[in-house]
Amino acid sequence: MRVTADYHTHSRYSKWYHAKHTIDQMAQRAKELGLEEIAITDHGPKHLFYGIKPSQLARAKQDTRAASKKHGIKVFMGVEANLLGADGQIDLTDDQIKDLDILLVGFHKGTKPNFINYFDKKQRNSQEQIEKNTQAYINAINRYPIDIITHLNEYIRVDTKRVAEACAKRGTILEFNSKHMKFTDEDIEILKESGVNFVVSSDAHNKKRIRDVDSCLELIKSHNIPLDRVKNINQTLKFLPKV
Ligand SMILES: [Zn+2]
Ligand SMILES: [Zn+2]
Repeated sequence: MRVTADYHTHSRYSKWYHAKHTIDQMAQRAKELGLEEIAITDHGPKHLFYGIKPSQLARAKQDTRAASKKHGIKVFMGVEANLLGADGQIDLTDDQIKDLDILLVGFHKGTKPNFINYFDKKQRNSQEQIEKNTQAYINAINRYPIDIITHLNEYIRVDTKRVAEACAKRGTILEFNSKHMKFTDEDIEILKESGVNFVVSSDAHNKKRIRDVDSCLELIKSHNIPLDRVKNINQTLKFLPKV
């Protein structure tokens, strides 16, 4: 199993130095590790603590282009946007999305979603809430050109089957995240059945963790997940950087 790419990493464009290294340093390390591609996917702007400033998006994109050239590796400009609305709303405008090479979407603490009161623990795990979460994800998947849904079932639970089926239908990929892995054995069987595709991601917040996906590879082996469905093992997503 050759890991070709890491499509979920953070750089210093996440506010307050939430992540340690510059895009240039991340790209250099990815190249040293033998990856063909890396995506820089800082937190969406509405993350209250770590979101990238909208005014920095263009600058970050320039940095990805410069790093690509300098290190001879494809460096994609991305954002890990925040799921905020019951209607699927995320924290990027259509113009901002058009400018990205890759769009990731996930749910995070430290945001203000309108479909859940995260701090109400009892409500958080109720069936009624799981239904709302599920619908918010499905609306986002149908509304935006999302490439990858990050760490599903971390922080809030969904009906895994319905979200996976919505992803499979739209060609949206689900992530195995080595830092945030909340899928149960039962979930994994449901994912296999759904026909959805996968990536393995490090969610690295510093360059030392790039390609740190061993736990995901173990899971793929132990559940016999067909490798042709894992889009950054022995193959890449083949994005073209948008100029
Ligand atoms: Zn995340
Ligand atoms: Zn992340």
